[in-house]
Amino acid sequence: MNISSIKKDYLKKIKLINKYNKFYYDKSNPSVSDQEYDQLRKDIIKIEEQYPELLKKDSPSQSVGFKPSRNFKKIKHKVPMLSLSNAFNEDDLKNFEKKIINFLSLNQNIEIEYSTEPKIDGISASIKYENGVLTTGLSRGDGAEGEDITENLKTIKDIPKKIVSKNFPKQIDIRGEVFISKNDFKKMDKKFANPRNAASGSLRQKDPSETKKIPLNFIAYTFGHIENNVFEKQSNFLKSLNSWGFKTSKFNKTIKGIKNLIFHHKKFEEIRYSLDYDVDGLVYKVNKFILQKRLGFVANAPRWAIAHKFSANSSISKILKIDIQVGRTGALTPVAKIEPVNIGGVIVSNATLHNEDEINRKDIRIGDAVTVERAGDVIPHVVSVDKNKRLSNSKKYIFPLKCPSCGSNTVKDFNETTKKYDAVRRCLNEDFKCKKIAVESLKHFVSKEALNIDGFGKKIVEQFWELKLIKFPQDIFRLDFDKIKNLEGWGNLSVANLKYAIEKSKKINLDRFIYSLGIRHIGQENAKLLAQHLKNIDNFCKLSRINEIENLSNIDGIGETQIKSIKNFFSNEINISILKKLTENMKISNSPTDKKDGILKNKTFMFTGKLNQISRAEAKSLVEQNSGKIISNVNYKLNYLIIGDKPTSKKVKKAKELNIKVITQKEWMSMLNKTN
Ligand code: NAD
Repeated sequence: MNISSIKKDYLKKIKLINKYNKFYYDKSNPSVSDQEYDQLRKDIIKIEEQYPELLKKDSPSQSVGFKPSRNFKKIKHKVPMLSLSNAFNEDDLKNFEKKIINFLSLNQNIEIEYSTEPKIDGISASIKYENGVLTTGLSRGDGAEGEDITENLKTIKDIPKKIVSKNFPKQIDIRGEVFISKNDFKKMDKKFANPRNAASGSLRQKDPSETKKIPLNFIAYTFGHIENNVFEKQSNFLKSLNSWGFKTSKFNKTIKGIKNLIFHHKKFEEIRYSLDYDVDGLVYKVNKFILQKRLGFVANAPRWAIAHKFSANSSISKILKIDIQVGRTGALTPVAKIEPVNIGGVIVSNATLHNEDEINRKDIRIGDAVTVERAGDVIPHVVSVDKNKRLSNSKKYIFPLKCPSCGSNTVKDFNETTKKYDAVRRCLNEDFKCKKIAVESLKHFVSKEALNIDGFGKKIVEQFWELKLIKFPQDIFRLDFDKIKNLEGWGNLSVANLKYAIEKSKKINLDRFIYSLGIRHIGQENAKLLAQHLKNIDNFCKLSRINEIENLSNIDGIGETQIKSIKNFFSNEINISILKKLTENMKISNSPTDKKDGILKNKTFMFTGKLNQISRAEAKSLVEQNSGKIISNVNYKLNYLIIGDKPTSKKVKKAKELNIKVITQKEWMSMLNKTN
């Protein structure tokens, strides 16, 4: 890349991060994960290190937070409220200390004393006291100017309104963190993703009586402006905060030496899940104020302090219980219910344990302290167990041999190719008698990619099953609408809509029909291969004859596993009767063959929003028939995002940021040489 394109890229990144800042700080509703944000921040700083001449004032390395909202009066901080530099490992800490030693020209072997404090994940506030009376309270804002949130702060019970202690400075700004407990967060409506956002959103309400309704807490940890600082050390100041009536953290400690800091961090990480508030790291501050004063500040953070963050991908937590989920194909999946933890801004309370073998291999037990990982879009999973923390009365977890849903025996398949037993244990009760398998199969049958019955969501399948309105897929075509009309939440209009959607779903292409049957190992792609080979539904039904099935081995892409599974499906009487009833009720057409060199060749598409006069499924199939590819995420592989009515704004926003073409349905239709 030449310098002008590097500059262009740098400016684009700065613009993007400032957009993210607006959502996070101003709207208390982040538009991306902390991981994604931190990665972008790192990329920006890397460019700045290589090309310092590009540095902009609004770079995250130079600025703090976001400008104050217009909803509040702006007030200048007497002493700026800054951010903190971050450390993630021992090297970062060594580097931090080395810079301090060099700056102060100290003996290289000196061990600096630090005040170490938990970094509570809330939002900071600065509260001005004049002659012991709370006069003004500000948010951090952009560090130079904050929002006047005095009345809101006054609603917090932990914040003294008047202090009479003799040694309380006449003029002082007390600074600390406003936060919400995990327990109180659980009771709040789900408007906010995590307690930090909830605290920020609640504190910055326009109407203080709204703030009062939310149980906010405050922990004090520093001062801004102070008249006549008589304190020698941060640790002494923290003790005085307590004596003046402020709450401080019981985990505050003074520590010397990097090794000891690391040890303390590790120990703290092990208990953080058990605290009733989110902590995203530890803050280390050079304890002596005289040294802090000499060290001063870099652009947006003090030189004398650092935040030693916890990982944004993983955390330690405790297994409270193990649930066994039964999937559509009968697979028993163990899921650990864990003490909720905040991993990179997302509250995680479930983590998959994959299968029986995985539990045995790692010897995972209820009550264990475990490391849970949540990286990118991957489902949170248990990575390891800390066996040192295990209680002496802990018992080995015995994986159930019976299906927890229907009580039948479970088995592990033997794989002829690998000559090994499958890691997954399955319930084989495929006759719609196992409730879990049946309900999951019905959900699959009506799902978007299968019959695509609008308004027939997962919750409705569960409700109709409980009410015995459906048991087998064909029951969907003979629902008792009079009964449904009288159910809570239903009325004439919703019943009419459902009836219409069900009627519409009866017309289906063969590939989607095959897919909807939920035959194990027959996903959308394999269903397409089968439909293209078999041509019509009669040929598909003929697969009940064994020699017809053997012919499928001629299809490129269909192997032993799929053939075995199809055989298994057709050997079951219930499946044969379901198939018969469905074919009587439905109009199954031959699937159109996809063109190999169609006009959308080598192009990728994604839809968002409601399309006009065409279902999502048909639109997708049109793309595929013309050799285009559908992808399910907005990422760099996507060429076109097609927007219908009320598109998901996050997707559109991300597409624009990634320079992906955002086109309307009409524009897409004209690409296909069709008009709408
Ligand atoms: P920060 O939260 O990393 O650190 C500074 C803050 O720490 C202070 O303002 C204070 O509120 C807090 N703090 C808690 N305990 C403290 C103590 N004992 N002493 C001093 N300060 C203490 O800094 P920041 O600049 O506000 O936030 C940066 C982080 O926020 C990023 O790393 C990112 O993870 C996240 N973020 C995410 C998004 C997003 O869109 N997801 C956007 C912006 C920021």
